[in-house]
Amino acid sequence: MATVTVTIDNRQIEVEQGITILEAAKKIGLKIPTLCHMREINEIGSCRICIVEVQGARTLQAACVTPVYDGMVVRTNTETVRQSRKMLLELILSTHPAECLTCLRNTNCELQTLAKSFGIDEIRFKRVTGKMVKEDSIDRSSPSLVRDPRKCVLCGRCVAVCEKVQGVKAIGSVNRGFDTVVAPPFDLELGDTNCVNCGQCALVCPTGAITEKDDTAEVWAALSDPTKHVVVQTAPAVRVAIAEEFGMEPGTLGTGKMVAALRILGFDKVFDTDFAADLTIMEEGNELLQRLESKQNLPLITSCSPGWIKYVEHFYPELISNLSTCKSPQQMLGALIKTYYAEKENIDPKDIVSVSIMPCTAKKFESARDEMNASGYQDVDYVLTTREFARMCKAAGIDWDNLPEEEFDTPLGISTGAGVIFGTTGGVMEAALRTAYELVTKEELDSLEFTAVRGLEGVKEAEIEMNSVKLKVAVVHSLKNAKIVMDKVKEGTADYAFIEVMACPGGCIGGGGQPIPTDLNVRMKRVAGIYQADEQLPIRKSHENPAIQALYEEYLGEPLSEKSHQLLHTEYVERDLFTNAPAKKEEKTAI
Ligand code: SF4
Ligand code: SF4
Ligand code: SF4
Repeated sequence: MATVTVTIDNRQIEVEQGITILEAAKKIGLKIPTLCHMREINEIGSCRICIVEVQGARTLQAACVTPVYDGMVVRTNTETVRQSRKMLLELILSTHPAECLTCLRNTNCELQTLAKSFGIDEIRFKRVTGKMVKEDSIDRSSPSLVRDPRKCVLCGRCVAVCEKVQGVKAIGSVNRGFDTVVAPPFDLELGDTNCVNCGQCALVCPTGAITEKDDTAEVWAALSDPTKHVVVQTAPAVRVAIAEEFGMEPGTLGTGKMVAALRILGFDKVFDTDFAADLTIMEEGNELLQRLESKQNLPLITSCSPGWIKYVEHFYPELISNLSTCKSPQQMLGALIKTYYAEKENIDPKDIVSVSIMPCTAKKFESARDEMNASGYQDVDYVLTTREFARMCKAAGIDWDNLPEEEFDTPLGISTGAGVIFGTTGGVMEAALRTAYELVTKEELDSLEFTAVRGLEGVKEAEIEMNSVKLKVAVVHSLKNAKIVMDKVKEGTADYAFIEVMACPGGCIGGGGQPIPTDLNVRMKRVAGIYQADEQLPIRKSHENPAIQALYEEYLGEPLSEKSHQLLHTEYVERDLFTNAPAKKEEKTAI
C-alpha cells in the first residue's frame, strides 16, 4: 500500500495515501471535531466544523473530505481555526431553538458539547430560520420517532443512514439554500411514509432533531394506578447496554441490576423476553422442519425484527409467504402474559398493563399493529427503549452502582443462553441450529458455538449437515445487506433453506433505541457481552428450557398446535412502496 508523509501539528507521520486529514489526525490521537462526518457513510463536508489550515492553501479546508498528500503540512488548532469554528457554531446556533433543558438530548448532544468546548456563552446573532421551519413543525406522526426540524443542523447523517445503510430513503433534503430542510418526500409526515421505524437516524443525529417517541409518562401513570397489574419484559440486548447510561463500559452485563431497578420502579412482575426467544426457536424450528418436508415457502426467513418485517411489506411483498409466521419474542411474551399468565394467576387481562423494554424503536410500531391482540387486548401496551428506561431510573433516583443483583420472576423469566444470543446478529440462527441439530439427529452437539454465523460481517453463510442432509443458511444485518440477499432469493439464485435478517447493524445490540453513541466499537463490545451472558447460563439450548417444556405440557400442547397458532403466530400486510398505506390490489376485470 502506497504511503505519504504528512505533518500534522508539528508531528510527522506516515499514512496511507488517499486517506483524509481527519483519518490521518486520528492516528496521532487527534479527534478533529465534526457534526456531519460518518466514515464511509456521510463524507460530505457539510458542517465545516472540521476546518483546518493546510500550508499553501488559500482557504481553510474541511478535514473530513480533504485527502492527504506527500509533504502536506496541516495545522488543526491555530487561532484562525478556533475562531472560524466558533463562528460556524454561532451561525448554526443562530438558527437553533436552544431548548436544552427540555430536550431529550440534553447532556448527550454533539452541538451542545461543541458549544461548551468552544466557550460559546452567548448567541450574538438574532435567531433566523428558513421559511420551511416553523415553530409548530414538530412531526409526531410516527409511533416510534419524533422529528423536530427546528433542531436540525442539516448534517445529512440521517439521510445517509436511511439510504446507504437501510436502503429505505424515507427522508431526504428538501428545497435549496437557506430553505433546505431534512424531511420525508411529498410533504408527507414520517408516520405516513415507508419509514420502517428502525431509529438508526435517531442514533446518528448529533442533536435532538430526531428522537424516540417518549412513552414514559404513560408507563408512570400505569405504575401509579392501584387497579393495574403492571408486568414488564426486557429484551436480550438491553442487558448489555443499559449500564452505559450510568457511565459503565459498553457490553457490561447489567442483567441483575436491571431486574432490581424495574422492581424499584414498581413493576409487579419482571419477565424476560429471552423466555419467548426460546419459545420462538421451538415454533420457528418446527416451522422450518415442516417447510423442508413440504418444500413450500423456502427459504424460511426470520420475523423477529419489526423494522425488517415492514421493509418486506413495502419492498418485497412477493416474499411475505417466505417469512416465518412466528410473532417476535416481544409479541409472543405479550400474548402469553395476557392469557397463560393471566389464567395461572387468576387476573383479568383487562387489568394487566404489559410493558416491554426494548433496544428498538420499531417495537413501538409493532406493538400497535392491529393484529397483535391474541387475548382480545393489545399483547403489549407500551414499549420503552433502553434510553427511556434509563431516564425512568434516573428520575426515580436509582443509584445503579449500589443496586443489588436480582433474578427475573418465574416462570416467564426462565431462559437459556440460546435466548440471550437473539440480541446479536447471528444469534437467532445459532439458537435455531443448536435446537434443530439435536432434535433432528437425536445427538448431542459437541460444541454449541456456531462461529460461522458470528461476527459483524454484513452477509454470513454457513452449511450444517443433519442426518446427511446439508442445510445452507444465511445471516444478514442492516437492510441494505438484506436487499442483496433478497434480490438473489427473488431471482432464484440463492440456495438457502433458512435466512436470519435483523434490520439494524449488528442486530438488536445496535437497535435504534440503544444508548447513544452506538458505533462499531460499541457494537463489538455489546456483542462480546451477549456471548459472555450465554456462556454464564447453565442451560444454553432452547429445547432444554424447563419453563418452555412446562408451557407446552400445561397449555400449548405442542409446537405449531392450534393454540400456538392462535397466540404466537401472525400475518403480514402488503404495503405501498412509498406510503404506509396497505397496497392497492389490482382489480380483476371480468372478460
Ligand atoms: S438539540 Fe442539543 S443544543 Fe439543541 S436544544 Fe437539544 S440539547 Fe440543546
Ligand atoms: S427510522 Fe429508519 S427507515 Fe425511518 S427514517 Fe429513520 S433510518 Fe429511515
Ligand atoms: S435530523 Fe439530525 S441527523 Fe438528520 S440532518 Fe438534521 S441534525 Fe442531521
